[in-house]
Amino acid sequence: MESSQSIVLGDVEIFRVIEWRGPLMPGPDLLPDTTERTWRDNAEWLAPDHWDPGTELTVAAVQTWVLRSGGRTILIDTGVGNDRERPSRELFNRRHTDFPDRLERAGVRPEEVDIVVNTHLHGDHVGWNTHDVHGEWAPAFPNARYLIPAADEAYFGPGNNYASGHRPDDRLLYEDSIAPVHRAGQSVLWEDSYRIDENLTLEPAPGHTPGSSVVRLASGADRAVFVGDMVHSPLQLLNPSCSSCLCLDPREAAITRRRVVERAADERELVIPAHLGGSGAVEVRRAGGGFVLGEWAAMSQPR
Ligand SMILES: [Zn+2]
Repeated sequence: MESSQSIVLGDVEIFRVIEWRGPLMPGPDLLPDTTERTWRDNAEWLAPDHWDPGTELTVAAVQTWVLRSGGRTILIDTGVGNDRERPSRELFNRRHTDFPDRLERAGVRPEEVDIVVNTHLHGDHVGWNTHDVHGEWAPAFPNARYLIPAADEAYFGPGNNYASGHRPDDRLLYEDSIAPVHRAGQSVLWEDSYRIDENLTLEPAPGHTPGSSVVRLASGADRAVFVGDMVHSPLQLLNPSCSSCLCLDPREAAITRRRVVERAADERELVIPAHLGGSGAVEVRRAGGGFVLGEWAAMSQPR
């Protein structure tokens, strides 16, 4: 099937804008329940989009999913951002990309964005919430409502000393990417669930962080679920008990992942994680007590 850079599910068009992509870390570091063997045994389909057999490093994309739904423009997650001080995480520290230009080239003007979803408050999901205006951080999407999980606000915010103050990054990213949105009156803190529109609903999916969430799409006969960082590698869809080293509560993350993957298989939801390269979206099916991958979406990775 011919691939394009967007797909349409029901009344919703879906495409993505890449901030950057590249090697992340050795497979067993990312998924501590796997071994080098696990990755080599699956090399044929993991390479090159998800794992590099030469370096044996996983490959990740940092990207924003863009949805056109009911006449609105919705962004899911906003990447790392430019010029951020992130001393604990070299990969995110003082990054500089042309992401705003990429967004515009993809047809997304900042003032036309209606809704920004932060699936959770990690540094690679909130960065372009804001941009630098004369030395001050201000919302990059001046007319958008920013949907922020209340549980992550409570955990990463000043009320909890920025995730207990272990990492300077947590305070820095809250202050440069979240606090300015609150000050501008553009944030909506949600819990339990949140109906975005007739096609899209936010639901809690805790574990990776306390407030981690998924966006469910149901439009006509089509179904999808944007799972954020619940999944960093398609191997986790085959084995949902496999949490990543980035999950704050790996046990809770595994319980959530199994529930979401089971539902995706039963309800034929296309699974769309935050960071997968290649097609970026895949179906999952039950098979013999476990799971197998179905079709990858006919969607090419933008350059
Ligand atoms: Zn992430």
